[in-house]
Amino acid sequence: MLQIPTLRNLNNLYQRAVSLILPPTCISCQDVLAPTEPLGLCPTCWQTLPRWNLETTPTPRLPQHLDSFHAPFLYEGTARDLILQFKFADKPEFAPALASFLRPQLDALLIKCEKPLLIPVPLHPARLRKRLYNQAALLVQHLVKNAPAPQKTEKIPYNLTSALIKVVNTKPQGQKSAKARQKLPKLTFFAHELAVIDHDVIIIDDIYTTGSTLNAAAAQLKKAGAKSVHALTLAYTQPS
Ligand SMILES: [Zn+2]
Repeated sequence: MLQIPTLRNLNNLYQRAVSLILPPTCISCQDVLAPTEPLGLCPTCWQTLPRWNLETTPTPRLPQHLDSFHAPFLYEGTARDLILQFKFADKPEFAPALASFLRPQLDALLIKCEKPLLIPVPLHPARLRKRLYNQAALLVQHLVKNAPAPQKTEKIPYNLTSALIKVVNTKPQGQKSAKARQKLPKLTFFAHELAVIDHDVIIIDDIYTTGSTLNAAAAQLKKAGAKSVHALTLAYTQPS
């Protein structure tokens, strides 16, 4: 069926066309990037990223079903700004740069996992229709696509859509109180046994707050036979 392009589609097309003609710019301050600069951020914005220091902010107590949790940043300043734009301001083009920040911690996890499987936290289909892309799935795609040579030849196993699906359309966690965030319906997610059995699953998401979303997903993954479940997100925010 022929679809009539919406204003949003046309605007996206325009943005993509412009980005092909103009030199790459910093995704945070929009300054033009030198060709030698790594994907996405200028050196000044790179410096302002709030890296998570485990000495000043210890790792939170893990929820029951998660085996480990990792994130490069705290959810504040430049990191918060980039994640909010990536998620809510129609900026899927941020994905390669944001995914690159997850690379060191992903590499460390891959060494530990015997049978890794990368999956994004899924969006409910109704939310996906509205947002048009799942930001966590874009991160997984770019982590796999831009993997360094040794991993590329072995291919990082991943599953974008069918291993874990969201069956209940819950409110975004950010819009709930800390207490409400901990109470997710038990069957928010469904995991497919065939896809996950005996795997060491690495779930990718943008933010970790109480860990209740990731824990609900991990519970179903383990019920379906996953050997271990690790969470890797862009940022950690301490629940208020
Ligand atoms: Zn910048």
